[in-house]
Amino acid sequence: MGTLPQTLTRLLDATLPDGTRVDVELAGGLVTAVEPTRPRKPEGPTELDLAGFVLLTAPAEPHAHLDKALSWDLIEPPMGDLEQAIASWRAYSAAMTTESILDRATAAAHLLLRHGTTAVRSHVDLLVGPDPLRGVRALVALRERLRGLVDVQLVALAAPDTPDDVVHAALDLGVDLVGGAPHLAPDPRQDLVRLLRIAVDRGVGTDLHTDESLVGEPTLLPYARAVRDWPAGRLRSAGHCVRQGTLSGPELAETAAALVAGDVGVISLPITNLYLQGREHPVSTPRGLTALRAFLDAGVRVAAGADNVRDPFNPVGRSDALETASLLVTAGHLTFSEAYRAVTDSARAVLGLPAAGARVGARADLLAVRGANLADVVANAPPERRVIRGGVLVARSTAVHELATGPTSAPTSSPTSTPIGRR
Ligand SMILES: [Zn+2]
Repeated sequence: MGTLPQTLTRLLDATLPDGTRVDVELAGGLVTAVEPTRPRKPEGPTELDLAGFVLLTAPAEPHAHLDKALSWDLIEPPMGDLEQAIASWRAYSAAMTTESILDRATAAAHLLLRHGTTAVRSHVDLLVGPDPLRGVRALVALRERLRGLVDVQLVALAAPDTPDDVVHAALDLGVDLVGGAPHLAPDPRQDLVRLLRIAVDRGVGTDLHTDESLVGEPTLLPYARAVRDWPAGRLRSAGHCVRQGTLSGPELAETAAALVAGDVGVISLPITNLYLQGREHPVSTPRGLTALRAFLDAGVRVAAGADNVRDPFNPVGRSDALETASLLVTAGHLTFSEAYRAVTDSARAVLGLPAAGARVGARADLLAVRGANLADVVANAPPERRVIRGGVLVARSTAVHELATGPTSAPTSSPTSTPIGRR
């Protein structure tokens, strides 16, 4: 095995999700041919043998908080709801330095890449205190550090009390989109209007935390209506949309129609919202997910991500899109194909990235996972993976499994067991 990165020209004997076995030709960062396989050994370091691997579109993470990620063990916060998590985070974040944020964010991004994610959109807090742009500087530096490995988009996460000029300063430093959380404001509509006005003034898109609560007056519908006349290329999306998971059919239909008309993508974040929401209902606990099926049926672009990873907002999480896909199957009742599309094709569309995958003309951002088919891969999240970004092998994970496969001859009190099977 050579060192990474490694430019590739041909993938041999890969299994597509539909079971077809193919050879894939790569050139100029794109997929240039997909043909029935003629199994053979690789002829050099630019050919990669993928026999026994399922070849998938590489995931994109449409909603991360790389500035918060991996802080759980440092903070040791109490478990709790969104309000509790915000309080724990605000107390800790007052003392963070740009360097400490960059260290954690780098580790979090490397975990994502290792598992196959080649594009990430991260929100970044505009912090309280004398230097509110520490997080912004850290994540702008991270974006440079990851150039050629992971496409990074940044969203300025403006709290209701963040002054407008701080949001503008974040955009001046290179942040891509305006973000915020109107549902946390005393007057959510007013905060929504304020954030959209900043985006329009700057000619940039928006990605708002929207209706991250099981109760309250929804802002998703007025958001969708407000951006309907924006230029086609200006990105606009809404994360969480938990409240919509509680709405009645007619209310949902009206919202879904406005989302389609306004071209607003919805980003579901199952692992974090399953953790944060519904704690006031110890039985028949609501799931905290948005109205996935209704939105998909109405033709809304529905993507999914993890949101928080091992921080006060979510103590667990593996930085693996297959974990999100698995939760969409169990908690969201999507099919395997729908779930995987939400973390790949739809996530890339929400980010405004060109289509990727094992199709001629698509970007060669690919994830190969050892397994039999898509269901097997989503269910088991196998560790053996090959991650290809723009036709270049950028991550490779291997695994050794050892297992006792027969009756042991040792006394039952012995802690050792034989024989050992190995593959
Ligand atoms: Zn978030």
